[in-house]
Amino acid sequence: MEYLKEKIKKEGKALNEHVLKVDSFLNHQVDSNLMDKIGDEFANYFKGKDITKVVTIESSGIAPAIMTAKKLNCDLIILKKKVPNTLNNDFYQTPVTSFTKGNEYNLTLSKGFIKEGERVLIIDDFLANGEAASGAIRILKEAKAEIIGIGIVIEKTFQPGRNKLEEQGFDIYSLARIKKLSEGEIEFLGE
Ligand code: 5GP
Repeated sequence: MEYLKEKIKKEGKALNEHVLKVDSFLNHQVDSNLMDKIGDEFANYFKGKDITKVVTIESSGIAPAIMTAKKLNCDLIILKKKVPNTLNNDFYQTPVTSFTKGNEYNLTLSKGFIKEGERVLIIDDFLANGEAASGAIRILKEAKAEIIGIGIVIEKTFQPGRNKLEEQGFDIYSLARIKKLSEGEIEFLGE
């Protein structure tokens, strides 16, 4: 997605070889026009697949995911990283290691929001080691959902996430693919 690539080139900051900072348009300040285009792009790729729910992980996945859900005319489920005290005991939970924070959190889904056989699309902001997406997959499988695909805004191809997910047979659609980061430099796949 050319528009996204231009935005990353202009405003993204490689903090080191592993982490890209995108807080001016994706996960702190959010570019609503860009999110609209991202929603179109994912919806266009996954249209005709009868998606009944879009699923994301709080909080950085929410902006692209809600736009995608709107365009696919379905609801969004936000997997929680903390159990809210309003939640009863009826939930699915799985441990996930955070890429950016290094700690572990329990990904949580209240039972009932995903019904058996629902056709779900997972959307997240980044794909790095594939931990967050794998956690989402585990929970959705527990809920007996059918995972139709995975949409990623920014994939770092030098980290093992894609391989891990492709080995399980998932269709992964990434809008920008970065092959190398070094302080102050961003290299895209195919450039
Ligand atoms: P994974 O679970 O695939 O290792 O990492 C994905 C999650 O970690 C994403 O949900 C995202 O929030 C965060 N993440 C991974 N890499 C980056 C990065 O380079 N920059 C930022 N800002 N977040 C990242």
